[in-house]
Amino acid sequence: MVKSQEHEHPKKAFGWAARDSSGVLSPFNFSRRETGEKDVTFKVLYCGICHTDLHMVKNDWGSSTYPLVPGHEIVGVVTEVGSKVEKFKVGDKVGVGCVVGSCQSCDNCANNLENYCPKYILTYGAKNHDGTITYGGYSDFMVADEHFVIRVPDNLPLDGAAPLLCAGITTYSALRYYGLDKPGMHVGVVGLGGLGHVAVKFAKALGVRVTVISTSLNKKEEAIEHLRADSFLVSLDQDQMQAAVGTMDGIIDTVSAVHPLLPSIALLKPNGKLVMVGAPEKPLELPVFPLLMGRKMVAGSNIGGMKETQEMIDFAAKHNITAQVEVIPIDYLNTAMERLAKTDVRYRFVIDVGNTLKHT
Ligand SMILES: [Zn+2]
Ligand SMILES: [Zn+2]
Repeated sequence: MVKSQEHEHPKKAFGWAARDSSGVLSPFNFSRRETGEKDVTFKVLYCGICHTDLHMVKNDWGSSTYPLVPGHEIVGVVTEVGSKVEKFKVGDKVGVGCVVGSCQSCDNCANNLENYCPKYILTYGAKNHDGTITYGGYSDFMVADEHFVIRVPDNLPLDGAAPLLCAGITTYSALRYYGLDKPGMHVGVVGLGGLGHVAVKFAKALGVRVTVISTSLNKKEEAIEHLRADSFLVSLDQDQMQAAVGTMDGIIDTVSAVHPLLPSIALLKPNGKLVMVGAPEKPLELPVFPLLMGRKMVAGSNIGGMKETQEMIDFAAKHNITAQVEVIPIDYLNTAMERLAKTDVRYRFVIDVGNTLKHT
């Protein structure tokens, strides 16, 4: 007989789960494995709400399994470590992002690119090595192999640090890998949401000149005054867009809705790179001719490896970079999801799991 989620592992756990593609979340009893030799167990204090969570609870990508406990921007405090754990001790501030396992033997893993391992294990809704389902950070505690656990530097506030584990590394890795990290370069950021606003912060800290490209003028003041972007382009304003043609070394496109690529490609200098980090559920139209005329590139990037994720959060600590968050109690979760669907948040919801998750 198949054991229920509540009894398949020895440790009783509690969180909030979606039960079907309505996406409605509610309290859920399940279980987690014992702390293994190389495992770190930690009490979850905060968990960010990523746009992916919204797609997953509603099965927008067709890959969801239920019950689904989302959450892959998880921070907390270590409560137990296995006998062979080397990097962490009880009381340490730690985090887990999008990945909790990989084969650790392929070329990608050997090159610290666990995020591109064909056998990587996502933090929720995926299968563990033992075949059981992974559950994310909308829950009271996590158990993870120390290789997939990140140390959170002391000077970073935990609520604002949580989104760095997905939104932060996604944009940081894209800027670094594609070489859009040289002082004096001009980089555009399309979309000023969870990903976009941290992209601006990282790019500025790297010494890059940043232009935010958005459909709505009402984000201009925020982008310039608060996030310290150098300029702002309204993508629907033909005159503004025309004046900026051919001025950018690269663009980080964070938009997860279907949208045209041509306006962004036009903004690139020759050899410019348009890097997609959002995940629209339908294919986008790719105009090839403008790519040829200027040797331009449209590319993608997905989170980052464990080594780079640690590097990213250490860089964030050094430059005082955190996400701008709206902290919510967990019983506000369904309302938060509805607001997120309307992009009614500046810029990331973070659940105060530590203080508001109550066993029922
Ligand atoms: Zn995410
Ligand atoms: Zn691998």
